[in-house]
Amino acid sequence: MSIFKRAEITARKFLKMNNLTTPIDLEKAAQILGVKIAYVSFEGQGALVYNDNFNSDKKLIIVSANQTREQLRFNIAHELAHILLKHCNTILQTHPEEDKPNYEKEANICASELLIPRNKVKQAFYKYSGDIKKLKNHFQVSEQAMVTKMEILNLPYENTFYN
Ligand SMILES: [Zn+2]
Repeated sequence: MSIFKRAEITARKFLKMNNLTTPIDLEKAAQILGVKIAYVSFEGQGALVYNDNFNSDKKLIIVSANQTREQLRFNIAHELAHILLKHCNTILQTHPEEDKPNYEKEANICASELLIPRNKVKQAFYKYSGDIKKLKNHFQVSEQAMVTKMEILNLPYENTFYN
């Protein structure tokens, strides 16, 4: 199984085991994983996670308060994904778009599945007839994250300039 498939399955199992439905409550997800989230004001966007695997009560996500709610949600989901995928004992930071190591791609795939699970997309797709703005509101994600998921799932979509 590819590491990317594994990342997706890990997200799905976590949602199912903990009865989490969309839009996913990230505070609750963090609580389940024993992670504290700190919202701080720092330059730029993004988040980082401190994940001490030998000391399970020392998990902390530090997230920039200077971003939209959708960006915030994606970045928190991304850091939670690092914990779920057991990328441990490191402080993981945001990398430039080019030159992303595999564990960063894995975390993005896992985060996308946490926020926009495949099976839920299919249901919502029929409900909203592929309208990206309605879909993104439904899942509380950015338009770009929603479009990316539709592309991955090969589903038609409309009402967006990300075409
Ligand atoms: Zn990361």
